Amino acid sequence: MASADDDEMIYYGSVTFDTPIPLSAIADEHEALQVRPDLITLTYAGTGSGRSLVGIDTADQEDAWAWSNAWGSIHRTLEGLARRHGRVLQTNATFESDQRGRGILVVDEGNRLHDCQEGEDLQAHRVRACSCLSWEAPRVEATEHEQVSGPRAVPAGPFTDHVVICTEHGEVVCATSERGAYFHREAHIVGEHTASPLPLGPRPASEALPFGVRELIEDAAAELRRGRSYAPAGAVNHRDAAREYTRRAESELRAFDLGDTVAALLQFCVELRADFPQ
Ligand SMILES: [Zn+2]
Ligand SMILES: [Zn+2]
Repeated sequence: MASADDDEMIYYGSVTFDTPIPLSAIADEHEALQVRPDLITLTYAGTGSGRSLVGIDTADQEDAWAWSNAWGSIHRTLEGLARRHGRVLQTNATFESDQRGRGILVVDEGNRLHDCQEGEDLQAHRVRACSCLSWEAPRVEATEHEQVSGPRAVPAGPFTDHVVICTEHGEVVCATSERGAYFHREAHIVGEHTASPLPLGPRPASEALPFGVRELIEDAAAELRRGRSYAPAGAVNHRDAAREYTRRAESELRAFDLGDTVAALLQFCVELRADFPQ
């Protein structure tokens, strides 16, 4: 579940529901699953208004490598569908990952998907005794909020999950621990229901950068990503290129006549982004 966000990976195989779910009941999730046809193919049963979603097949092509969080959001959508519609997930999928090698996808006893690396104990994933779920959310003070519910306990096989619902945004999170549910609840309240304390608002700070500067920063990031595929010595050229792009971004930025505050803020953004490992 909590695979590193900067891991590139690919899955081969299918994930299906034990009984297909009628499309008429799952318009939003169906739409969400359709945004990555490069990664997955949806499979259906029936025709016309009686059509149901059987599950997904991976595109099974070499260029279907993607960041693990893209795959993660597909899997979370399938888990949510299964939970809300009382289905059981089944899979025959395997994966390959840039950082974690090969392995198989496993459905745990509470109907969640885990990546089980080669050599790992499959049973530990089945009973949620694995490192996938070991992340412990920081403890937070719970805020009263009329739109965002407190965590509600939901049975998941032998486990208990904790669901938070927002009347405006729907399901905020289904966490495996109550503490995790509180954490995501507070993050949702701050992110979606609190006037932003920053002048930039909820936009990522990088969007506030002038275009030319942002482009150079993105070039630098791309070099760093390319450098990741090589052993440290082989990545030197990429890191040097990234540093050069960053230097150019900094000098570009000086050419803009931005108010003192904005300039300082943007300078800070650039420096923050330039601060990559040597
Ligand atoms: Zn696991
Ligand atoms: Zn909300």
